[in-house]
Amino acid sequence: MKWWRWAICCILAISHGTALAQSNALITVGLTDFQQAPTVRCRVAEGSYRWLVRENDAFTELGALTKTGEIKKANGGWEMHAGGANRISPYFILKPDHAEAKIKLISETTGYRQYRGAVHFYWHANEWHIALETPMESYVPGVVVSEIGKGHAEAMYEAHAIVSRTYALHTSGRHRLAGYDVCDQVHCQVFAGLSTVNDTIEAACDATRSLVLVDRLGRPVVAAFHSNCGGATRSSEAVWQTANPNLVTVEDHYCQAGAHAAWTQSVGGEQWRIWQETSDSTERFDIATRHWFKLPSARFNAVDLGDTVTIHGMGFGHGVGMCQEGAMQRARQGTSAWMILNTYYTDIRLRPLQEVTTLESNASSDR
Ligand SMILES: [Zn+2]
Ligand SMILES: [Zn+2]
Repeated sequence: MKWWRWAICCILAISHGTALAQSNALITVGLTDFQQAPTVRCRVAEGSYRWLVRENDAFTELGALTKTGEIKKANGGWEMHAGGANRISPYFILKPDHAEAKIKLISETTGYRQYRGAVHFYWHANEWHIALETPMESYVPGVVVSEIGKGHAEAMYEAHAIVSRTYALHTSGRHRLAGYDVCDQVHCQVFAGLSTVNDTIEAACDATRSLVLVDRLGRPVVAAFHSNCGGATRSSEAVWQTANPNLVTVEDHYCQAGAHAAWTQSVGGEQWRIWQETSDSTERFDIATRHWFKLPSARFNAVDLGDTVTIHGMGFGHGVGMCQEGAMQRARQGTSAWMILNTYYTDIRLRPLQEVTTLESNASSDR
């Protein structure tokens, strides 16, 4: 077995499937932004970390990370500089000595981000990869703050923590070939680490610890969400051509004053008319139009002005599942997390993660 196949199998065995079904579940996240950088600097933020390097089919310890370590892309692997040492290998790991330890990664383009867990730097399928192997309960607060920021009511954070934890089960496996479960971009869920997580978010995630949404057969719900539904959510069937009893249309007026409630976009008049005459899609016209013109949402009115067509739209995102801005407003007015979830998802139940089997990813990644 080639060394990298062995290594990838190790990461996946640790993080996917079996581990996700345990209370101390781990998830492996591809750190896409850092992967683009030629050099990544590493500094301990809390506790202590050790370098491991893969040599002769085994990982060998290289000692503690002290001061600022540096790891660069090299031919067919990574070049690591730490404590005066300089090593080249296809695979390095920064491993925490304790579950609470935190590492700070820094690059010129991304700035710095803090993470809990082990960081894997590896060369695989002719590409450099950086993957964070982190507890699910450290991933969730990072996703929640990246997705909705600070300043919301506690119920909103509780609802989003449950949604993000559940959605992670659904997206897990999308990046299996690269060696991780999920990426840290909007394709899976945005995850920019823990630097901006505050006590309110931490407490809300903790209050919902390990809880996920399941359907009547105990399977994880496809906990889709979007910024603003524009007045009513859409069914899974309308957007993805896959009927889902948990994702049906729901009227929602709570998002009307949200930051993404309305938008305007112009397209060329000629371009618009050709599209209208020739569009031959299995999708509904509004949804196909959204994709074709890259509109923020599929809820709009078009005003034909001859040379240009002005499109006045409502909402932002695909419109399926939880409307974040509607949920924020409901939470602000005192609605509980469970009532919010029951508004946007139909026929749901709460279960601890360890009692739930994971699903293969199959829905659209479109947000
Ligand atoms: Zn992804
Ligand atoms: Zn809404």
